[in-house]
Amino acid sequence: MRVLVVEDEKRLAAGLRKGLEAEGFAVDIANDGTDGLWMATEHPYDVIVLDIMLPGMNGFKVCEALRDADNWTPILMLTAKDGELDEAEALDTGADDYLTKPFSYVVLVAHIRALLRRGAKARPAVLEAGDLRMDPASRKAWRGEQVVELTSRELALLEFLLRRRGEVVSKREILDHVWDYDFEGDPNIVEVYVRHLRNKLDRPFDRESIETIRGSGYRMAANGG
Ligand code: CA
Repeated sequence: MRVLVVEDEKRLAAGLRKGLEAEGFAVDIANDGTDGLWMATEHPYDVIVLDIMLPGMNGFKVCEALRDADNWTPILMLTAKDGELDEAEALDTGADDYLTKPFSYVVLVAHIRALLRRGAKARPAVLEAGDLRMDPASRKAWRGEQVVELTSRELALLEFLLRRRGEVVSKREILDHVWDYDFEGDPNIVEVYVRHLRNKLDRPFDRESIETIRGSGYRMAANGG
């Protein structure tokens, strides 16, 4: 079992390596967030032990970046007792577990073993409306058995519409969820992207999944059209 420890306090990192190796783990150390993210992306680890306060890029950011990249390696976050950042935040950013410093190796190893038993966190469920499917984890979409190539923005729009299938969603809601909250551009961009989805997911299959509700917004048919 291979563990990545991302910790900038050199003595603690060395101690962790020694303790974990004694337990039979293969251990790699990264001393800052940027390196940690790179290593976690390049190598398959079974568990990542991630400090929060790190030079380069803090642990929350590393965790978010990994999850955004569909990396579901279990993450154990190390929080400082007197830190202003708390456990809830660690879990919010996609960590699986946390441990407050200082901790004993026995407790650390117990937490790591528990994470290994649980394995990688469940991937988000595949979203479906009839035979229209989208997997938020692998960022893929299908009409029936056929994979439909979509850009990342189109996938984000499809994901939002599928999560709210059967409901009318306004352009504003779509902009807030699929674009940035402070999006200042032309709201008609939504229409443009809805058209892209129709051209790729509906038209070639002679289907109609996204209904325009005049003056209100759009509705993804619960049955996929
Ligand atoms: Ca630190």
